[in-house]
Amino acid sequence: MPSIYIVPAWLEENHDLEFLRLRISEVFRKKTVIYESKKIDFHSIYNPSRKQYNSSQFLIQLLNNHPKDALRILGVTDVDLFIPILTFVFGEAQLNGIAGVVSVHRLNNKFYGLPENEELLRKRLIKEAIHELGHTYGLVHCLTPGCVMNSSTYVEDIDEKSEFFCSYCSSVIRG
Ligand SMILES: [Zn+2]
Ligand SMILES: [Zn+2]
Repeated sequence: MPSIYIVPAWLEENHDLEFLRLRISEVFRKKTVIYESKKIDFHSIYNPSRKQYNSSQFLIQLLNNHPKDALRILGVTDVDLFIPILTFVFGEAQLNGIAGVVSVHRLNNKFYGLPENEELLRKRLIKEAIHELGHTYGLVHCLTPGCVMNSSTYVEDIDEKSEFFCSYCSSVIRG
């Protein structure tokens, strides 16, 4: 059955993504499945001088290894992602494509030397996952205050926006 696939790609910690699966299935109204893939080769996407992992190459690996009936495929990782022109990215997606990736690395309070907060981490991951999937539906960054398609440079920007699409973005998702 055509589905949105969530692909966990952990290098260190294991995270239970059932909460994310449920939320994605509600928001996009599609069957959503957690799909374990053994095919993510972290070594080949690692940049030793930056000590970070190449987000676009992660995306390509997902595209090369997805189930045939994938409507969308979302990689979720705990490594620090970058694209060459930026210091880091929370995630990346194909505009009007099927694949997106997000990282929990900089969504975690631990990264900022703050006390861990599992609920906040989950909220941030939900927002960034919905945001990246929004790009795959052709949405670009939105200026409507609070819309989940607001761009986020810092983690505070993520906390300021909601996990919901504004009415315009919502109409694009609903087709
Ligand atoms: Zn974006
Ligand atoms: Zn919007």
